[in-house]
This record gives sequence, C-alpha cells and structure tokens, in this order.
Amino acid sequence: MKKTFLIIVLLFSLHPNVEAFTLDLHGWEQISDKHFKVFYKQEAGEDSPRQILNRAEEYYSSIADRVGYERYQNFWTWDERVPIVYFSSQEEYARTTGQPIWSKGFSVSHLASVNLRMIVTFKGQDNFLTSTLPHEISHLILHDFIGPNRKIPLWFDEGVAQLEEQREDQNYEAILARVVASGQSMPLSFLQHVDQGTHLDYRYSSIFYAESLYIVDFLVKTYGKESFVNFCRYLRDGKSFEEALRSSYYPTIDSMDKLQDSWVKYMTQYL
Ligand SMILES: [Zn+2]
Repeated sequence: MKKTFLIIVLLFSLHPNVEAFTLDLHGWEQISDKHFKVFYKQEAGEDSPRQILNRAEEYYSSIADRVGYERYQNFWTWDERVPIVYFSSQEEYARTTGQPIWSKGFSVSHLASVNLRMIVTFKGQDNFLTSTLPHEISHLILHDFIGPNRKIPLWFDEGVAQLEEQREDQNYEAILARVVASGQSMPLSFLQHVDQGTHLDYRYSSIFYAESLYIVDFLVKTYGKESFVNFCRYLRDGKSFEEALRSSYYPTIDSMDKLQDSWVKYMTQYL
C-alpha cells in the first residue's frame, strides 16, 4: 500500500455522458497486482479493495481468453496497469465525475493522445463484484483487442460486456423469447445502427441490452469459443462486421439476415 498523487483530466470516454473532469487522487490508498491497481480512500466493509483486485485479475484472464486477447498481447502490466478508482460513496462519485444517479461506473480507454485506460466506480453497490466489475473490464479488453480505430456496433460491445456478468434471474431468456415471438424485439438491421446518440426509452433500452447479450450468447454457446475468437480477430484485422461474421461462421451463418433468423429460431426453445 502506498500513498499516491495523480490528477487526470478526462477528455473522452466510452460513454457519451462522461464530460471532462479532474480526478485528484492525492491521499488515496493504492494496491496493485499484475494488471490492475485499485485506488480507494478507506477500507470498505464489503467488497474490499483486495477483493476487487483479486476478482479483477480473475476476470482479466477469463475475458481475455474469451476474445482471444491473451494469445497475441500481454498489455496492462507494470506501468500499463489499469487503475480502478473506487469512490467511497455514490454521492462523491457522482459529484466528482458528473455522472447521473443511475450510473454505477464507467470505463475509459484510448484518450485522444494518451493511451490511458481506467475504470471509475463506487462502494456500496449490490452485485458490484459480479456485475459492474466484469462489465467494465470486458469493455476495456474488447476495445483494446479490436483497436481504437475500428468501429464495433454498440450492441456487440454491450453483449460481450454482459457475458461475464453473473445472471441470477434465469427468467430473462423466457421474457426475451416472448418479446421476440410477439414481434416486439428490434431486428439486427436496426440494432446495427443504434449508437450512443440513439434515444431509446426505458422499455426499449432494456430490450436492447437483453438482445445484445443473448445474440452474443447464442454465438458463443452454439458455435463455440474458437469461432468467436476468430470473429473478434477478423474485426480487429479490419473486416466489416458482416464479413467477419461470414468468415467465422460460414456456411451456417453467411449474412446478418441469417444471424437474425438463426437467433430468432434459437430463442423459441425458451418459450
Ligand atoms: Zn456497457
């Protein structure tokens, strides 16, 4: 443990609603492991900084393995270790970062000129270790692996981010299957165009996240890890989303329309 002093002005992040802000970590405690360091002010009762660090390292391995990251790169060590800034309260987190009240955390990667990655979050959340933490680490790893200049659809980004989250309610599949069967889901042709500027009301926002998760889940469960790693690699190498899909899942899935049809059919098993 050591005291540290760091001020960072954030100019850009993965989330559109993160404005520039200054983070002053003067007087914060710090603990580090191989890929992460946790900054915090006081020991928390539950979800202690040590626990967060340990879980973050575990998630790093499993998520990196899922997208194929570790086979090619071994970033995030030594000076590249990713800071997890763990505020003592939601109030302090929201006041400092300007985040809305519903925000549980966010990740920052690839600032315009600095190769900075960071996760910012706060103490006292339900399911922090099993939900927010793996979600934000997944975003960082996927963006790192695919590269800052490659555009990936938001639904795919959010789908991968949710894969590692612990799902407690097994009814999600059944609920989503009913939405799909009733024709109220969003087709892939629409999802492909949803970005951070798209306004979706609460109901459609929930459907967006659920579909994102279960389309990616469908690909991984049905066609296995190797094809998914190949798919991520093709995206990294600059193929379009549809080309990457075709190259990894041919002949079963040779187009976005085929993915749409196959997924809708797959979901009927949950009805
Ligand atoms: Zn996310």
